[in-house]
Amino acid sequence: MRDETALNVTLLAGGVGGAKMAEGLAALDDIALTIIGNVADDDAFHGLWVSPDIDTLTYSLAGMINRQQGWGLADEGTRALDILTMLGEDTWMMLGDKDFGLHIYRTMRRAKGDRPSEIARDVAKAFGVKPTILLPTDDQVQTKVRIDEGWISFQDYFVRRKCAPEVLELKFDGIKAARPTEEALSALAGADLIIVAPSNPLVSIAPILETPGIREALTSAPAPKIAVSPFIAGKVVKGPADRMMAALGLRADAVGVADRYADWLDCLVIDHQDEALSEEIASLGVKSQRSNILMKDLADKARLGRETVDFGREQLKEGRAA
Ligand code: GDP
Ligand code: CA
Repeated sequence: MRDETALNVTLLAGGVGGAKMAEGLAALDDIALTIIGNVADDDAFHGLWVSPDIDTLTYSLAGMINRQQGWGLADEGTRALDILTMLGEDTWMMLGDKDFGLHIYRTMRRAKGDRPSEIARDVAKAFGVKPTILLPTDDQVQTKVRIDEGWISFQDYFVRRKCAPEVLELKFDGIKAARPTEEALSALAGADLIIVAPSNPLVSIAPILETPGIREALTSAPAPKIAVSPFIAGKVVKGPADRMMAALGLRADAVGVADRYADWLDCLVIDHQDEALSEEIASLGVKSQRSNILMKDLADKARLGRETVDFGREQLKEGRAA
């Protein structure tokens, strides 16, 4: 039964960093969690539609994620991929045997004309995921990365080339024509608290926000907006966000994140090591709170989830008092 006293928390999340935050929040029993995920990493492989960030959320929240990698299922095999390799297919995109089952199911449902959001919801339900996973749009949006050789797909950059090339430009194909889902718009409008996970601001959070209607819904939502920094002491925990930010002329640290989100963000949770950045963040009109924001295990995730929600509750009180 739905707890009527629970705080409605809406989380914006990408893949690995997003899923860690989602797990931490899912561990709290005084909130009702809704997650708006990223679909701009989606692509077709071997005729199947793959949605890596949504699957990372699903597998993590189902407790079935490969903990070492942070993505993919635990206890996986590569026999399907081995056959594809034998058949001469390019198999740089790591897709596990069990994982293939989900991609087959998703592709089959899409071919029937079912909404990607409904498919994601049904998958989450079948995996026993409690929080609600929403898509920002049911339309196709795909991140493209410009490197010196030209525009390439996000997974080509991220997986095949291991983020090695310098990023010259980013774009989200299809985003201008994309329509937001009603579910995502209501999750923002009806939230008591909006949290942005420590996900890559440029390729995980940006495609959610740039879906027409989403940024407006976020900005006009009455809920306090609080983000957790993906940077600790000027370094990312994992991935290319630092080099992407620098390449695009943004500061690759918590100040850069605050700057990106300053138009609508109330508070940024930064690491204790970044205490010295608080003043600069404040000068952007963003408050900051400090915590240990490295999430190594479930206890770290739950603690950071608890603290972030409590910082949010303080914002709520201040908002009411003002
Ligand atoms: P992706 O879609 O798999 O690339 O994952 P996200 O975009 O959701 O998250 C990537 C970001 O998560 C990177 O910029 C990391 O710095 C950040 N990240 C990963 N683990 C942690 C962590 O434990 N704490 C914090 N604060 N950030 C993290
Ligand atoms: Ca991703």
